[in-house]
Amino acid sequence: MTHPKHTIVIGGGIVGASVAFHLAKSGVQVDVIESRQPAQQASKVSYAWINARDKHPFGYHELNRRSQDMWRRFEDDLQTDIGLVWGGEMRWTATETGALEFRSRIAELQEWGYSIREISPEEAAELEPGISFGNPTSVSYTDSDGHVDPEKVVYGCLSSVRQNGGLVHTNESVKSFIKSGDSISHVVTTKDTYECDSVVIAAGSKTPKIAEMLGSKFQNTHSQGATVITDVLSVPLFNSIAAMHSPRDLGGVLINSRQLTDGRVMIHGGTNARSIADESIEDAEMLIQETAKYLPSTRDLRVQEVRSALRPMPPDGLPVLGHLPSTPNAYITYTHSGVTLAPMIGEMAALEIRTGVETEILAPYRPERFN
Ligand SMILES: Cc1cc2nc3c(=O)[nH]c(=O)nc-3n(C[C@H](O)[C@H](O)[C@H](O)COP(=O)(O)OP(=O)(O)OC[C@H]3O[C@@H](n4cnc5c(N)ncnc54)[C@H](O)[C@@H]3O)c2cc1C
Repeated sequence: MTHPKHTIVIGGGIVGASVAFHLAKSGVQVDVIESRQPAQQASKVSYAWINARDKHPFGYHELNRRSQDMWRRFEDDLQTDIGLVWGGEMRWTATETGALEFRSRIAELQEWGYSIREISPEEAAELEPGISFGNPTSVSYTDSDGHVDPEKVVYGCLSSVRQNGGLVHTNESVKSFIKSGDSISHVVTTKDTYECDSVVIAAGSKTPKIAEMLGSKFQNTHSQGATVITDVLSVPLFNSIAAMHSPRDLGGVLINSRQLTDGRVMIHGGTNARSIADESIEDAEMLIQETAKYLPSTRDLRVQEVRSALRPMPPDGLPVLGHLPSTPNAYITYTHSGVTLAPMIGEMAALEIRTGVETEILAPYRPERFN
């Protein structure tokens, strides 16, 4: 199916909203169907760090890095404040063994062209005097990373969809499809039945269930994730960086921390084995205490909100992007790191849906690999 006139996008998270935005911008009539309110699932919970730091293999790293580079243009296109903050990321190790592995990853990333370097503890302290590094054995600094406010991105995209004549249906769930031959002719929701000539399935962790209705099978790897939002910190959390990640070689609780543009602090905590992901206040308070070990200015912060959602997580950890083999006019966008990847997936998926061209850059991520 090429040159669709009317596309239905299922899911109003950051990925669906970006695809809808790019389709609507190029003249396709787009309706978004969202079972709750937009941006309230993984996209709201997300730590929303824009990066390619921990991405393997090289091709997937490259996909993330190119998408990172697309964020500024995406922001310009949206013509609204999306809470984009740049400044880079800093992390360090605390043991000699940890430093060995750490340095070899820095070397690999440098070979891949990522803007990362090892800096001395003195330079780290000079760059970020508010961080308590302890006795670091190695410190890395990358200046290209940032973060964004996914809710603002989603609302910016959907507002543009409406301006282009599209509709956004909320509190309405997709229940089934009516097919004509192999292709979907209608989408059936809890409220209505809509005629369309193409469909995008961007339902986050619910995507496999919807794809199953169309005969495609792959699991969502169960992976609950949570973030804690504190009350407002009246001073800047960092001097110049956008995000700090505590040593991974110490065991215990790992802390990822950043400051929202309104001054509140977001903490994403976990162990090497799992995300600290229930909604208990005890865990959230413990995460603030752990954060204060590295960032003393956060010592008196209080828990304002605990967010929790299932991550969309394909079985091999890599995105699933493309038309479904069973249903040529259904396109799937199912991915972790959907915040980093939103500009890339939105633009490339819209191009593939509109023209039928299969881009090289998305070739490794086709749904066929699970057949
Ligand atoms: C704790 C945590 C930390 C993360 N950190 C990062 C990070 O630092 N950097 C990064 O790049 N990524 C990160 N991610 C991943 C990233 O947030 C997700 O990949 C991204 O938000 C996925 O967006 P989405 O639009 O696909 O899914 P979602 O945001 O989940 O949106 C899917 C939407 O589909 C709707 N829906 C579901 N079923 C139906 C239906 N039947 N009918 C209609 N609508 C339906 C849902 O209500 C939902 O609104 C993190 C995720 C979590 C949970």
